[in-house]
Amino acid sequence: MASSARIRHYMHDNGPLILDGGLATELEAQGVKLQGDPLWSARLLHTNPQAIGDAHYRFLLSGADVITTATYQASITGFINHLDVSFERARELLMSGVQVAKDTVERFVSDSPPTGQRCPLVAGSVGPYGAFLHNGSEYTGAYAEAMSIEELKVWHRPQIDCLVAGGADLIAFETIPSIKEAEALVELLREFPNSKAWLSFSCKDGKCISDGSPFTDAVQIATRSTQLVAVGVNCCSPEVVEPLLDSARSLLSPDMTWVVYPNSGEDWDTEQGWLTSAKAPAAVPELSRTWMRQGAALIGGCCRIGPAHIAELRRQLKGSCTSPASAV
Ligand SMILES: [Zn+2]
Repeated sequence: MASSARIRHYMHDNGPLILDGGLATELEAQGVKLQGDPLWSARLLHTNPQAIGDAHYRFLLSGADVITTATYQASITGFINHLDVSFERARELLMSGVQVAKDTVERFVSDSPPTGQRCPLVAGSVGPYGAFLHNGSEYTGAYAEAMSIEELKVWHRPQIDCLVAGGADLIAFETIPSIKEAEALVELLREFPNSKAWLSFSCKDGKCISDGSPFTDAVQIATRSTQLVAVGVNCCSPEVVEPLLDSARSLLSPDMTWVVYPNSGEDWDTEQGWLTSAKAPAAVPELSRTWMRQGAALIGGCCRIGPAHIAELRRQLKGSCTSPASAV
């Protein structure tokens, strides 16, 4: 079945698709040091792809129907600057993010008993331009004020080209803080007419995305595309999801669904990283049933959400844990 047909089959016939959690979170839980690295988890595509594959595998075991590649902070320019590799090698590295995920899905399917088999999808992650800048602007979108839509398209084009060439089932435009960048991505997606994608925004509160624009404006941008299967929010606090979706409920077109994958709700400090808090990641699985009732068909977790939380999320939404192979 073609990937777009599989996406629709999952969303309409089988209840919500379960996304994975924070890939970097899981890598750090296994002892990998990423904090402060301008390439973040994407560096491991060069130095330790096995660790990425193993993290993907743990999310698949926990019940994820979709895994997202380690390319959020990856770019041709970033690889050339920070790894001192050629343009061609940088392209190969980006495409290898898709290959590692696809190989892991293949391993997972062949390891699973036939009765419990799922065929998970691979989403190619595209982060905001601010993630490359590595100066905190990915959480404000401030850089976009001084850029044109055309400049943003020029930036994103090579990364999307590699993820599509690598065979990603769909593209995950994620943690997008800015309306202008969303417009650029929606225009750019038309250059890849056979590709599907979701468009997910970072948000500052229950009404607005990170650049201060109303979430309703963000959703309206998404409805211009027939290639987007979903629009929504990620890496926000779980508490803001319900009011955000509610604010834009009348705008969603029948061919589109919500995608929701918040972080744990703990606070991020640019110096210290995630500040551990007593209000734990349990909120994502607990609140997920509300998001499903609001129409979300793609639900998962972002930073600080690990495989055990995804297993609990699946239990909340599907009633059972996972395939029989699950051991999380
Ligand atoms: Zn996140």
